[in-house]
Amino acid sequence: MTSHIMPTYARQSVTFTRGEGAWLWDTDGRRYLDSVAGIAVCNLGHAHPAVHEALCRQSKTLLHTSNLYGVELQSQLADRLIELSGMDNVFFSNSGAEANEAAIKIARKYGHQQGVENPVVLTMEKSFHGRTMGTLSATGNTKIKQGFAPLLAGFTHVPYNDMSAIEAALAADKNIVAILVEPVQGEGGVNIPAADYLNQIRALCDRHNLLMMLDEIQTGAGRTGRFLAYQHNGILPDVCTMAKALGNGVPIGACLARGKAADVLQAGNHGSTFGGNPLACSAALAVLETLSTSTLIADAQSKGEQIFQRFKNALADTPHIVDIRHKGLMIGIELDRPCGELVGKALAEGLLINVTADNTIRLLPPLIIDDAQISTLTDTLTALIQAFCRQ
Ligand SMILES: *Cc1c(COP(=O)(O)O)cnc(C)c1O
Repeated sequence: MTSHIMPTYARQSVTFTRGEGAWLWDTDGRRYLDSVAGIAVCNLGHAHPAVHEALCRQSKTLLHTSNLYGVELQSQLADRLIELSGMDNVFFSNSGAEANEAAIKIARKYGHQQGVENPVVLTMEKSFHGRTMGTLSATGNTKIKQGFAPLLAGFTHVPYNDMSAIEAALAADKNIVAILVEPVQGEGGVNIPAADYLNQIRALCDRHNLLMMLDEIQTGAGRTGRFLAYQHNGILPDVCTMAKALGNGVPIGACLARGKAADVLQAGNHGSTFGGNPLACSAALAVLETLSTSTLIADAQSKGEQIFQRFKNALADTPHIVDIRHKGLMIGIELDRPCGELVGKALAEGLLINVTADNTIRLLPPLIIDDAQISTLTDTLTALIQAFCRQ
């Protein structure tokens, strides 16, 4: 069936044809509860009426004119993002990796402005920043870099959630001009750092005149219980990247910048043919409107807490559970062994889950998940985990 598609993904043997809210239907008409949301993309669920309506309206009006001209919806979307984030300006791209490419280019040019000829961006072990050559080089996972040397120079990796490792790296390398970090590591295993980790990085960046760059591609747009995860910390980064849930399934990415970082890229320094086109912006505007006129973001916090508590209680006596953790609706259940086979077992029960870093069940349900669906999710998955851990 997929023989003409490059085998870059190990796919599950299911194909979906329709979705509504947290439900998906496959080619046989079978229904599934979606706790992956297209990898933290469909935060408003599938076929959300506001997104549907915006796309219909915009596709009847204007799809694309390029960035050679003014784009009204792009300006409106930038205004909304700035209001919601506290940042100063935005560059629009079509994906997360591209948003991070813009961030890396800002860091490098900022470094050159400081007189650093070979600027280095500090990133974290177990991080994930994308699959382009630049973002792959930034990524702290040797497995996915295998076979793609030569990688881009100019990145140094230190352990996540370890301030002294950052300080040691800064002392050892005067070329470090920026720190790029995820507020919660998603692909790396739903790794949640100390509550003040971002505050400490902020203070260190101020002290050393470095750019603090947050990859909020997975954590952004309400996932963790705030619009952006750094808002839990009461700080502002210098650069922040978004993508995934920003368009609820319509490809759009954004690199937000502030203060000295906002002036770095000038005319001719960067671009994108599609980036910020009217169709993508119409979807993102509908997403932001829906998020800011509902309680969905605050609910992500309470729903995440509810799911976490249920698993914590239900799995208290189950062997092989290392840890259960969450930030809003980003939930991880870490086992002491690889548990990828649970994905297929859940699928057979009509439940979509994800396993990342080999041994961590990652749940990213849509923010619109309701009480009954939360019960279905926690009951079904608890039974599967118990059977798996006691076999
Ligand atoms: C998904 C993701 C990316 C890459 O986004 P793409 O749209 O797949 O290029 C980068 N960083 C983080 C934290 C992600 O979760």
